[in-house]
Amino acid sequence: MSLELKKRILQKIKEYNKIIISRHVRPDGDCIGGTKGLKEILTLTYPEKEIYLVNEDYSEYLAFLGGEDAQFEDEFYSDALVIVLDTASTDRISNKKYNLGKELIKIDHHIDIKPYGDISWVEDWRSSLCEMIVDFYDTFSDELKINSMGATYLYTGMVTDSGRFRHNTVTGTTLRLAGLMLDKGINTEWLHANLKMEEYNQLQFKAYALGQIKVTENGVAYIYVDKEMQEKFNLSREDASASVAFAENIKGSLIWVAFIDNADGTIRVRLRSRFLTCNDIGENWRGGGHECACGATLHSADEIDKLLLEADAKLKEYKATHEGWL
Ligand code: AMP
Repeated sequence: MSLELKKRILQKIKEYNKIIISRHVRPDGDCIGGTKGLKEILTLTYPEKEIYLVNEDYSEYLAFLGGEDAQFEDEFYSDALVIVLDTASTDRISNKKYNLGKELIKIDHHIDIKPYGDISWVEDWRSSLCEMIVDFYDTFSDELKINSMGATYLYTGMVTDSGRFRHNTVTGTTLRLAGLMLDKGINTEWLHANLKMEEYNQLQFKAYALGQIKVTENGVAYIYVDKEMQEKFNLSREDASASVAFAENIKGSLIWVAFIDNADGTIRVRLRSRFLTCNDIGENWRGGGHECACGATLHSADEIDKLLLEADAKLKEYKATHEGWL
């Protein structure tokens, strides 16, 4: 099944001279690495084709991987193949013109709640979208070309989306495909330094934020990074969003959540869980994602309380009916 889809996708790539690649909004290492890695593979393999990366937002945190292309006029799309990576639903595509192409391909590893595209290759058990792109490269490696930069992009997505190869979506195949990329010559020290280094204000924010974490009756840990906190520590959107990781390792807190004030008055939710799933909660609040890592959007502080009540009840029920969690 997946081999057939991969063959159809390669066939489409061969048919088009112009290919535009897009990803989801609020980019992370996986969608940046995947789009840039795919562009590198296609540019090296088909130097005669025009391959572009077009998106409407940007990641400061991942700027070390380099930039993307500028947006085009509508007419430019009419003979293009558009490939959207790592984006479950069309409303999260970081390119409003995604639908102006002649054909549309979706490649993704999120739960497929809102399918789209003329061809859709979705494998939600994959640890990252980049794992799928490396698998695609590996399937046709006698035809497709890659270099150390392309491998670095794809390895970045594999490393970041799998929590440094820690999540239970990581399989032997994940590590074999990561090994394939490592063999292309990745400077892992440079990569990890770029992923890990923090500014002083980020560290000060972390120290303060740790003291702001609260835990509900049954163990849901949460932090609310409101506008005031963001201003006080001069935080970028990404700095503020990183706070979800601060609440990750509290014993008994099998669900942890960060609420972050958006500039438009809505509240971004980042939900994480271990042993039990949390995507149902995200889906109840205009969101989705993976079983144990998902997002949502709230319209008022009142909805924070409602979401927490829901998460707390779910955790209570889980703890009452399961053993061996911590
Ligand atoms: P985040 O907390 O933003 O890192 O999201 C965790 C995962 O869920 C990522 O793979 C996101 O792409 C996905 N996700 C986040 N927000 C949403 C949303 N509103 N709808 C669907 N998927 C989402």
